[in-house]
Amino acid sequence: MTYDHIQPVSKNGKTSFENLCLACRICNEFKSDATEAVDPLLGETVPLFNPRTQKWSEHFTWGLDGTRVEGLTAVGRGTVARLRMNNPVIIVARGRWVISGWHPPNI
Ligand SMILES: [Zn+2]
Repeated sequence: MTYDHIQPVSKNGKTSFENLCLACRICNEFKSDATEAVDPLLGETVPLFNPRTQKWSEHFTWGLDGTRVEGLTAVGRGTVARLRMNNPVIIVARGRWVISGWHPPNI
């Protein structure tokens, strides 16, 4: 895991507990310095999901086979798209975790 600045340093984000979260390297790199994303369903620009102020289960769920994250809201859908949370590398890894009984997590 890497530390991610929810509000990027390049956009005056502070290195403080409230502005940091853990993110896997791939998600962190796809997020880059973004704070917004486009909801692929409605085409609206929305803020990225904030793990400090929002509840994961209100914005995301796991697909039936447990390998894909599905956005439930515009924020969720936009975040899944921007961070490419269903990229082929992580889908393969999640598939193995499902077989091992480690995934999806209880939320
Ligand atoms: Zn990730």
